[in-house]
Amino acid sequence: MDFNLTEEQKMLHDTVFKFTRNEWEPRTVEIDDSDCFPWWLWDRFRQLGWCGLLIPEKYGGSGLGVLDTAVMMEAAGHAGADTGSALAWGVHLSIGTVPIILCGNEQQKQKYLPKIATGECITCFALTEPNIGSDAVNLQCTAVRQGDHYVINGTKMFITNGPIADLAIVIAATDKSKGARGISAFIVEKDFPGYSVGRKLDKVGQRGSETSELIFDNCIVPVENRLLEEGDGFIKVGAMNLEYERSILSAAWTGMMGYNVDLAAAYAGQRTQFGHPIVKYSQIREMLARMKVNYEISKLLLYRAAWMKDQGMPAPLEASMYKAFTGKACMESAIDGMQIHGGYGLMREYKIERSLRDAKLAAVGAGTDQVLNEIIARTVTGTRSLTL
Ligand SMILES: Cc1cc2nc3c(=O)[nH]c(=O)nc-3n(C[C@H](O)[C@H](O)[C@H](O)COP(=O)(O)OP(=O)(O)OC[C@H]3O[C@@H](n4cnc5c(N)ncnc54)[C@H](O)[C@@H]3O)c2cc1C
Repeated sequence: MDFNLTEEQKMLHDTVFKFTRNEWEPRTVEIDDSDCFPWWLWDRFRQLGWCGLLIPEKYGGSGLGVLDTAVMMEAAGHAGADTGSALAWGVHLSIGTVPIILCGNEQQKQKYLPKIATGECITCFALTEPNIGSDAVNLQCTAVRQGDHYVINGTKMFITNGPIADLAIVIAATDKSKGARGISAFIVEKDFPGYSVGRKLDKVGQRGSETSELIFDNCIVPVENRLLEEGDGFIKVGAMNLEYERSILSAAWTGMMGYNVDLAAAYAGQRTQFGHPIVKYSQIREMLARMKVNYEISKLLLYRAAWMKDQGMPAPLEASMYKAFTGKACMESAIDGMQIHGGYGLMREYKIERSLRDAKLAAVGAGTDQVLNEIIARTVTGTRSLTL
């Protein structure tokens, strides 16, 4: 078993790490205060060619793999990126785009992927609704076919990139009587009649990503914008997307755990109490050790799930285990990191407090801790179903 990254992956890691340290990390307090997506960062991503990492070169993308992309996201988090902006970037790279890469037909790929790859077109993924979160199969948004188009009605909730996206992958019920097999996926452009952005939501963390409702009021979507067949939206598009979401998207949180270790170790080395640097005290060392071990475990689980996706292997259990572990561990890492900083940990200029606010979503988005535990438990007991 070879645990080394390839030379190319090491280069990708170092490039993103340096970029983040030099340009992104110094502006994270400003990004957090603004509560807006940083367009200057998007412009830099466009210049660097980082908007279509997973898109095949044939359609103007970088043709990178899942592990390559996870390595880049992890490097950004480790170098101190705010995981809000990283989330906006990750949604565009993965769940807003992967359905077209993996499930789109040739016409859909040619129409959308080149614009997504240049960053001219920003994407999002719209599954969650005001009354339906974990129990996604019972969604209320409907898509009714009328000749050559569908009419979509419903509201989507908590949509990352909702206010800034040019295109949404929308999951809606085409036949409620069929349950999970009655759900379909659509590529919906923001200019289609009946598409509008609802209220922008004010969040405790992830403030570099914009989150909103999306409203579909008799929204007209051409039949040619359906992904795969009617009924494939949950069992194929949604299920496959979740594995990407649980690996790539969460990689920045893994990186954040490395950033917390660096911040806490540096602080513990220079803060003196009772005549010694606090790093000499065993209780501080224990917290640092726990933070480091959990960071490394998270990376190993991440890289395995991402590697499996690159081999074309289904990884629902591995992606769930990675995400379940990381959701808890990155919160603990932020709490320990803040504790090591004492009172200064609560001060925004010390940056560790943002880790705590940003960590919360890791245990909620893309499957809550409880839902992931249920998936893991059902897998080991052989009782998994289509819906959970
Ligand atoms: C900042 C942010 C960004 C997001 N971005 C997106 C996005 O881009 N696209 C998108 O579609 N969605 C997005 N989401 C939605 C996210 O995926 C949901 O919040 C998540 O799936 C949980 O759904 P819910 O919030 O409705 O909670 P609920 O499902 O209502 O859960 C409430 C509580 O009940 C628990 N629970 C539920 N079912 C069970 C069970 N069977 N057993 C035990 N406990 C259970 C949950 O774990 C949780 O603790 C985002 C959410 C946030 C906060």
